[in-house]
Amino acid sequence: WSSETIAVVTGGNRGIGFEIARQLAALGLRVVIASRNPDSGRQAAECLQSEGLGVESYQLDVTDSASVESFAKWVFTAYGGIDILVNNAGINFNLGSENSVEYAEKVIEANYFGTKRMIQTMIPVMKPSENGARILNVSSRLGRMNGRRNRLGDENLREKLLNDDCLSEELIDGLVVEFLKQVNDGSWASNGWPQMYTDYSISKLAVNCYTRLAARVLLNRAEGHRICINCYCPGWVKTAMTGWQGNMSADEGADTGVWVVLLPKESPTGKFFAERREISY
Ligand code: NDP
Repeated sequence: WSSETIAVVTGGNRGIGFEIARQLAALGLRVVIASRNPDSGRQAAECLQSEGLGVESYQLDVTDSASVESFAKWVFTAYGGIDILVNNAGINFNLGSENSVEYAEKVIEANYFGTKRMIQTMIPVMKPSENGARILNVSSRLGRMNGRRNRLGDENLREKLLNDDCLSEELIDGLVVEFLKQVNDGSWASNGWPQMYTDYSISKLAVNCYTRLAARVLLNRAEGHRICINCYCPGWVKTAMTGWQGNMSADEGADTGVWVVLLPKESPTGKFFAERREISY
């Protein structure tokens, strides 16, 4: 990794994404803060530039295909491609013990479909590299399939999602589409979905499943074109998303993400991490 290494962090203008950008840049990488609001992206980049770090910003809304396409074109023209993609952008409208699904569609669109759109659009602009290019999805333990408190009630579906031979994009998309259908017809509450922050948990469960699926597909790439894709939970972090509640700073929440994305050459792929160790899905 060097100043030739180009890392993109979505939602890098604040919170955990900003700290991931800062830590990667402090290690000498060139970082692009991708921010849906160009002004706040610029301010964030200027703040890190004032610390002497190699950071710039560019507009990106992960829910807008045209924005994602034009971001990919820009980054290819500016740098000839990227080495690291951190899919950090995300939303959550629940706080404390609330469990409203009022914004379910928006949450699934940004957290799951936005992440998937970024992966699919950016893979063609990921540079061949000896270390293997890297994708990291910022996820959450709330999306764990075997979580004790927050599990998916449908045993059969859970088994299928955990079985590599059954896991497919159709299965994951089908899960979120079915959930949104039940939100629309009002039947979701009695149908065994995770009990806490239901829409957010499902969006992250889908991100986790997609990480495993993409890792398997990416294994088929030729030597030198390898891409490792993993996900991680930053912990409960004091950011706007949690209403500044939590038991750690954004700086601490960024730590495992930076560690995973810079693992040496034989990096694992398709894995889930927290606190600098692998955890189960
Ligand atoms: P923040 O709310 O502070 O930051 C979220 C970032 O995502 C902001 O930069 C926001 O941009 C950006 N974003 C939201 N929607 C879009 C979009 N459509 N396109 C581009 N950027 C977008 O939250 P955190 O820093 O806490 O969250 C970062 C990630 O960490 C999220 O994926 C979250 O789910 C995950 N996470 C957080 C935890 C926590 O305890 N905080 C726990 C587990 C996971 P803007 O400034 O324009 O709103």
